[in-house]
Amino acid sequence: MKAAICRQFRAPLEIETVAIGKPDAGEVKISIDAVAICHSDVSFIHGYWGGALPAIYGHEAAGTVIEIGSPSSEFGKGDRVIVTLMRSCGGCSVCSGGAEALCAIPPASGEGATARTEDGEAVWSAMHTGAFAEQVIVHERQIVRLPDDMPSDIGALIGCGVITGYGAVRHVAKICKGETVAIVGCGGVGVNAIQAARIAGASIITAIDTSPSKQAISRQLGATDFVRLAEDADYEKARAVTDDTGYDAVLVAVGSASVISSALRLLKPGGRLVVMGLPPSGDMSEIEMTNLASYGQTIIGTKMGMAQIRQDIPEIISLYREGKWVLDELISGRFDFNQINDAIAAAQQAENVRIIVTMR
Ligand SMILES: [Zn+2]
Ligand SMILES: [Zn+2]
Repeated sequence: MKAAICRQFRAPLEIETVAIGKPDAGEVKISIDAVAICHSDVSFIHGYWGGALPAIYGHEAAGTVIEIGSPSSEFGKGDRVIVTLMRSCGGCSVCSGGAEALCAIPPASGEGATARTEDGEAVWSAMHTGAFAEQVIVHERQIVRLPDDMPSDIGALIGCGVITGYGAVRHVAKICKGETVAIVGCGGVGVNAIQAARIAGASIITAIDTSPSKQAISRQLGATDFVRLAEDADYEKARAVTDDTGYDAVLVAVGSASVISSALRLLKPGGRLVVMGLPPSGDMSEIEMTNLASYGQTIIGTKMGMAQIRQDIPEIISLYREGKWVLDELISGRFDFNQINDAIAAAQQAENVRIIVTMR
């Protein structure tokens, strides 16, 4: 099979022939139909987080089960599924507490999951997935059924950006009806936080982004206001939307420590700031801690929106079918697998929300 391999950070991926083995117990082999380009893939390609090379990135995917490792699996050949990077055991105290994104003992991958080149060189399947490839072997706890009437490219979106934005609002910020919300960064995660805040009944949803091209999609998804962030003083404009009282919740989808510390200025007393974006390793910022104590504010980290994929994904699919959750309009462009480097370049253009790569 073909896979797009990163052999050097900041260099184009190389499409090479590799092979994977057989799924172990608890694993499934999936033929990938579509994979989205997430900013985490771009961060890995840029070397922001290090990691082994050569590597296969890609973790927001949908495909078809072609082989199962356990005869008793709840999945069978031919099942269409959404593939996520969330690998959890389901039984540890962390998983039992609803935080499967932080599972203390995620199941290890079997030998068959490692892709090998024709020379036998092992290639790292990043983020437990490695979906910039025609096939993957993942744990069956990473997948959720995709109904037959939903296209794979739409399903692929749900696997990372959608569940992160949804989960951050639902499980972490816990937005209540009537609350005021600001979303900083209107890319693949931020726009979905906007949708979730609208469904939660937020009274003000201010979308904030450096690119004016994000205004139309943000308003379409439920933003009541849009502020273009061109300079630091623009945070005051965003705060002015609330008549300067500040927001109940601020969700930051930008992976930048300086943006996170600036966004704290948007909070009202007692407000909560949720960190959704992943800054590069070592990115530091200074925070005036007395404000947290004086105003009772909270900074909350979240991994993958603390999503619980077996509940959240079916819920999102239901909302989509009821016309309440937008997915189709989140796709800004489609590319064939052999154009994956063009797709990655497009994913970095400010005006694009999500770029999809289709395998066939
Ligand atoms: Zn992602
Ligand atoms: Zn666990």
